[in-house]
Amino acid sequence: MFTGKTINMGVIGNPIAHSLSPAMQNAGIQAAGLDYAYIAMPVLNENLEAAVKGLKALGFCGFNVTIPHKQAIMEYLDEIHEDAKIIGAVNAVKNENGHLTGYNTDVTGFIDGMKQEGFSPSGKNAILLGAGGAARAIIWGLIKERVSTLTIGVRNVAKVQPVAEYFRQYMHIEVLDWHSDEFAAKLPRAQLLINSTPLGMTPATDAMPPVDWDRVSPDAFVYDIIYTPAETLFLKTAREHGCRTLNGEAMLVGQGAEAFRLWTGLQLPREPMAAALRSALCPTSGKS
Ligand code: NAP
Repeated sequence: MFTGKTINMGVIGNPIAHSLSPAMQNAGIQAAGLDYAYIAMPVLNENLEAAVKGLKALGFCGFNVTIPHKQAIMEYLDEIHEDAKIIGAVNAVKNENGHLTGYNTDVTGFIDGMKQEGFSPSGKNAILLGAGGAARAIIWGLIKERVSTLTIGVRNVAKVQPVAEYFRQYMHIEVLDWHSDEFAAKLPRAQLLINSTPLGMTPATDAMPPVDWDRVSPDAFVYDIIYTPAETLFLKTAREHGCRTLNGEAMLVGQGAEAFRLWTGLQLPREPMAAALRSALCPTSGKS
């Protein structure tokens, strides 16, 4: 039950009704028996500054930020954490007595997902398929974890080359056409293969990025950041090939848990968060 002592947190964006964060965060909060409340708040572009001031005035301890405010929010913050600065996007804001700091918790969410499965990307040869909105957090996470090599396979090399240029000061990243022989030649040495394209996402579940599985080692760890369906065709093929696999649920739960930790210093239990997520994504599948 909410009381006068309940501490508020939430997510701003537009549209926001589809957000999975309230279900996920409140499930974790409830399971932990904590007195916090997490709500979704629609905020139009022209109201962003007023909304940020309002959340500060109302004493929200923190809030998530989603499309379309992840970049625009920066000018209303007092401080921006290094990860968010480098990625160029804020997805979580912490309010400490009116001092607002912007973070990007996708990096931690992405990396922790793998680590919880017992896989460390450190020193590994990594291949990333696709490089859109989600890729900067993934690339920065892999660089921070000190992967040995990083190759990006895409359909449009020229479009993604600037991303590699941007990160060049931290690491050399090769961008290759995923239909090229050069890309195919990289596959046997890949120890980590990540899909960051939407190929295979519901409802177009028959799709997957073009990978010559005969060249992929069964020892490779294969990660698809898609979370619906739970097993994409990409992951199913990888599993049948003998690879260890991980879907995007861990990343989504992880970024939320990391935001909550930044705001409160507390760790939320992940399984109730993941269960709430699954139930919100597929309400007819029963209580999982
Ligand atoms: P995005 O910006 O639209 O695109 C990602 C990449 O996929 C781009 O390189 C894009 O290439 C490529 N791509 C898209 N459609 C393609 C197609 N039909 N054929 C070949 N390449 C294609 O997407 P995003 O925002 O990065 O998100 C990607 C996926 O990650 C989505 O499924 C999203 O739900 C998921 N996601 C998961 C999490 C999580 O927490 N688990 C977080 C964020 C995103 P072009 O630039 O050439 O179009």
